[in-house]
Amino acid sequence: MVSPVPQYTGLDWVWVLLGITTMPFEVQFRCRRCQQVFDKTRDPAVMRRVI
Ligand SMILES: [Zn+2]
Repeated sequence: MVSPVPQYTGLDWVWVLLGITTMPFEVQFRCRRCQQVFDKTRDPAVMRRVI
């Protein structure tokens, strides 16, 4: 039930809204039921796999 949630900075949101894939500054692994963040990473290799 844990899904990766990419976190973007303000400027990166513009690219996301335009449909352009950009690298988030971090990815949080959050529970879909209670929104609790179990883990987060800023490792580019991991983030590339989940975004
Ligand atoms: Zn939960």
